[in-house]
Amino acid sequence: MAHKTEALFRDDAYLSTADAAVAAVNDRGGIIFDRTIFYATSGGQPGDTGHLERADGSRIAIAATITGETKDEIIHVPAPQQAALAVGEKVKLAIDWERRHLLMRMHAACHLLTVVCPFPITGAAVSEDDSRVDFDIPDASFSKEEVTASLMDLVRADHPIFTRLISDEELAANPGLVKSKNVRPPVGTGKIRLVCIGENGAVDSQPCGGTHVKSTGEIGEIHIGKIEKKGRENRRFRIRFGPMPAA
Ligand SMILES: [Zn+2]
Repeated sequence: MAHKTEALFRDDAYLSTADAAVAAVNDRGGIIFDRTIFYATSGGQPGDTGHLERADGSRIAIAATITGETKDEIIHVPAPQQAALAVGEKVKLAIDWERRHLLMRMHAACHLLTVVCPFPITGAAVSEDDSRVDFDIPDASFSKEEVTASLMDLVRADHPIFTRLISDEELAANPGLVKSKNVRPPVGTGKIRLVCIGENGAVDSQPCGGTHVKSTGEIGEIHIGKIEKKGRENRRFRIRFGPMPAA
């Protein structure tokens, strides 16, 4: 039976440590806790890495975090040659915060890109130094310079980023909230998590289960590194940190 892990990062993406108890260890050594701050790979955002500290002060390195049988079951994959934990054991969780914060900045930057390029999203992948979003855009009239300037306007405006829950009915009444062409947010649980940017979500609102910084200013300087043509109507935009390199 799948476990339901309390996902602390959904309400507070800034938690870098937390106490937890081992709920189960699966047959491949994956650890499931009652609660966690480790984000599990999904929605284009990679899972967290980090470590667990046991009562005796020894540490177990976590190399990856994935979902199990259901999206609510979060599995912490230890690095090779780590000590085994017992069910019920209490540990202190610690994520690699530096990496996570980069991912939160990048993930928020991807949302801004969907504001600047309001086209159906066909794919996305967040990483700590280079992220991509693919759009279904029939014409290729975008320049990296223009898109970068529009992104940086949104960063400098320092809009708040926050989440709110809506019902399946509210989502059904506002189909424009879903920007992804192929991926539909899960319905049937009664509530969908919206990530909103700007006062009352005036800049953007879209369903997302990932982790983001709390304001657009915290993203810092970013630029479009490349716009690639992927197939007849697909354009791949690459976001990178820092100023645009001189041509
Ligand atoms: Zn997101």
